Amino acid sequence: MPELPEVETVRRGLTPTMEGALLVRAELRRPDLRFPFPADFATLVSGKRIVSLGRRAKYLLIDLEGGDVIIAHLGMSGSFRVEDGPLSEAPGDFHHPRGKSEKHDHVVFHLEGAKGPARVIYNDPRRFGFMDLARREVLSNHAFFRELGEEPTGNVLDAAYLAARFAGKAQPLKSALLDQKNIAGLGNIYVCEALWRSGLSPLRAAGTLVDTKGKPKAALMLLTEAIRAVIADAIAAGGSSLRDHIQTDGTLGYFQHSFSVYDREGEPCRTPGCGGTVARAVQAGRSSFYCPKCQK
Ligand SMILES: [Zn+2]
Repeated sequence: MPELPEVETVRRGLTPTMEGALLVRAELRRPDLRFPFPADFATLVSGKRIVSLGRRAKYLLIDLEGGDVIIAHLGMSGSFRVEDGPLSEAPGDFHHPRGKSEKHDHVVFHLEGAKGPARVIYNDPRRFGFMDLARREVLSNHAFFRELGEEPTGNVLDAAYLAARFAGKAQPLKSALLDQKNIAGLGNIYVCEALWRSGLSPLRAAGTLVDTKGKPKAALMLLTEAIRAVIADAIAAGGSSLRDHIQTDGTLGYFQHSFSVYDREGEPCRTPGCGGTVARAVQAGRSSFYCPKCQK
């Protein structure tokens, strides 16, 4: 499943084509993805100019003139590609192979931009992705967004915020970090990586990172920095892969090569001088990869 850095990479990749362009026509090639398209979706978005491309958690937000916002989620296997003439560009590389078959092209946005006509095509073999439409002014109260915590990008996520969320919690740290009410869009891969970077076990209680006055301990400050850094690094890696690979070939993507613990069960820990072995524990149905020797 694409995680936040991949979605952000997609957003940045689509922005030059979509932002400011006229959405001449939305072509829906089936009535539904994971959910049915909203009634009159194609009619409501067609003929509108795209004001900006945003993101909240793992949702792409396509702001249209007039105040409607297309909310797009890539699900498990969704991807966008841009076609403008003979060139085809697919922003972002993914851990899992992406679909290439045109029979899975379900939505085509026909655009007229500053550089001429272009098509932005949504492809999704498994159809777990979806698109919805909402008014900008009620977006923060939308069912998708109203309970989301802070973004792990930007400056808002800090140790004091997490201390307030974690104080007194016996819940495992891994689960607390995956809870979207605490941090929006942070997924399994990057939680594992951030915990490894900060030397913290996914199994320890979240409340142990908060002192008796409710203030963050040093370990929580370290973890907060690690979360922000791991996401920033992944976005930077996605940005470079976007330049390096004009056409995605569908093989395993770039991000996996930089994983330190994720999906590395039984392999040597990469912490210098540790000598431990990466272990896997299943927590709430999700695999946690960690080094029992240096993550306490
Ligand atoms: Zn280790």
